[in-house]
Amino acid sequence: MEKKELLYEGKAKKVFTTEDPDVLIVSYKDDATAFDGQKKGTIVGKGAINNRMTNHIFKLFEAEGVPTHLIEELNDRETAVKKVEIVPLEVIIRNFSAGSFAKKLGMEEGIKLLSPTLEFSYKNDDLHDPFINDYYALALGLATKEEITTISEYAFKVNAVMQKYFAGLGIELIDFKIEFGRYHGQIILADEVSPDTCRLWDKETHEKLDKDRFRRDLGNVEDAYQEVFKRLGIK
Ligand code: ADP
Ligand code: UDP
Repeated sequence: MEKKELLYEGKAKKVFTTEDPDVLIVSYKDDATAFDGQKKGTIVGKGAINNRMTNHIFKLFEAEGVPTHLIEELNDRETAVKKVEIVPLEVIIRNFSAGSFAKKLGMEEGIKLLSPTLEFSYKNDDLHDPFINDYYALALGLATKEEITTISEYAFKVNAVMQKYFAGLGIELIDFKIEFGRYHGQIILADEVSPDTCRLWDKETHEKLDKDRFRRDLGNVEDAYQEVFKRLGIK
């Protein structure tokens, strides 16, 4: 499988076309951004960690009945994936208060929610990814009712699988963002699952092992990514 043309360069990944119109190659970068791209930096080794972690976890999802875009890991940074039409929704699940949720609701971070929450942001950089609900998504034609139902079911399933899996690694899954796409009429999980897109806290010490270390200048950013990767035990 070979890269043909650069289709898209995002903040964290480059996406290339291949000979096969149904297949893309994603290449994970060490670039990091936060606050809508205003803060920029590099997290050395991040690309390889996020690539390998995403693929490792996507295999767990597949085994639990959640279809994903994964085809084949090509090398440390690059993976062949099914080309989807991305549903322009950032799907966020929360198990504990943190980030924008804690701020909006005047809560401390790290309070366990009575039940997991699901929310959508409209994936639109010009509008800065505004918070929307199911009705907005339907009204704007971002997804059908059936797609929203499937996306929500998959998102909670993904949450259950990850919560259990990370618990075994001494990690609390605070919250995360995922994206879905349409592949020949089916909804499948796309994009990534990594310390860039999840809040992961050490269960004992509550140390942050995710991108908040970069966002908030907490230091030891690379160490945190390495620590998560080490606990995954990927060979
Ligand atoms: P951003 O666009 O937010 O800067 P990235 O740097 O991660 O994010 O860029 C990767 C882009 O590729 C994202 O816009 C994501 O929605 C898209 N993408 C992820 N997986 C697929 C896929 N399987 N098919 C098509 N596009 C995808
Ligand atoms: N998130 C993400 N990309 C985004 C926005 C959020 O991956 O563009 C993730 C973020 O890492 C966290 C979860 O989604 O795990 C919830 O983020 P929140 O709404 O609290 O926003 P933030 O505080 O990151 O602005």
